[in-house]
Amino acid sequence: MRWDNLTVRSADSDDHGRAADPALFGADAVVTRTFDTPEFRGITFHEVRARSVLNRVPGASRMPFEWTVNPYRGCTHACVYCFARKTHGYLDLDTGIGFDTQIVVKVNAPELLRRQLASRRWQGDHVAMGTNVDCYQRAEGRYRLMPGIISALTEHANPFSILTKGTLVLRDLDLLTRAARVTDVGISVSVGFTDAELWRTVEPGTPAPERRLDVVRTLGEHGIGCGVLMAPVIPFLSDTPAQLRETVRAIAAAGATSVTPLVLHLRPGAREWFTAWLGRHHPHLVRRYERLYADGAYAPTWYQRRITRQVHELAQEYGIGPWRAGQARRIRPADPAPVAALDEPTQLTLM
Ligand code: SF4
Repeated sequence: MRWDNLTVRSADSDDHGRAADPALFGADAVVTRTFDTPEFRGITFHEVRARSVLNRVPGASRMPFEWTVNPYRGCTHACVYCFARKTHGYLDLDTGIGFDTQIVVKVNAPELLRRQLASRRWQGDHVAMGTNVDCYQRAEGRYRLMPGIISALTEHANPFSILTKGTLVLRDLDLLTRAARVTDVGISVSVGFTDAELWRTVEPGTPAPERRLDVVRTLGEHGIGCGVLMAPVIPFLSDTPAQLRETVRAIAAAGATSVTPLVLHLRPGAREWFTAWLGRHHPHLVRRYERLYADGAYAPTWYQRRITRQVHELAQEYGIGPWRAGQARRIRPADPAPVAALDEPTQLTLM
């Protein structure tokens, strides 16, 4: 996709605005803004009006959902390994630092979703969010698109799920609680490891793993069960038995209702960026990665199976899952499969 499903509005730039570079976007009516506050320094926002906000996942996809809503493109969480980097290239934007700093904002997402949900053609299917980039990245603090999106879904009692690394999701706790009264709401938080040093370099724009686990805890305290996508498990950097144990222990302590491990995958776009990072921070691992990922984007099946089995055993040991005593909870369709259900390593392309 380039800018073909985005209807852009006139460049009525304000104090912060300036006309977008037509060569960059292939359009001359994107409103481009920068904000001179510490959290947004160096970030450029491209505000567009989308023609459609409900996206159908291609039939051949391995995704366990059919419809997604993604109000943003690009992500200031800036995870080095992010698989969505490639999609920035579809917009003629840079997949490296550009993915972290050039954020496309579909400013009309809530009103558009409300209209599409009201259409007679819409069947009320489950809608997944946070599947391409994080809908609770820092930009959401400014643009506040998610409250309108959640409200629209709630008004139509439309089931939905959110996957995030952002603590900002707690801002919408009341809305999520209200939604959960009328429809199935599945929230998952992504925490691949708890190593602070690794976090600072490989996920530099994200809240710390402990803060994300606080989100899991807080949601649980408010009656909204929250699963953890243990992603990614990073070969040779977060995969020792002790590291896996510590991560699963912390996830269990936060009260997660499920844990689903995903081993790092490196598709084009992410692969180049991650390999450059590896060369700077862990040069001794470059050859090992070349061997481990010699056959493509995914680690070998034997490796994925090993991680899945280890996490599975740890999850049982720490009592994570639907069998957790005293924590009876319906497993909703929106949840990632509890780890006990994963006989085979999974290759879902989620955060
Ligand atoms: S992995 Fe998720 S949180 Fe990290 S940069 Fe990508 S979309 Fe953002």
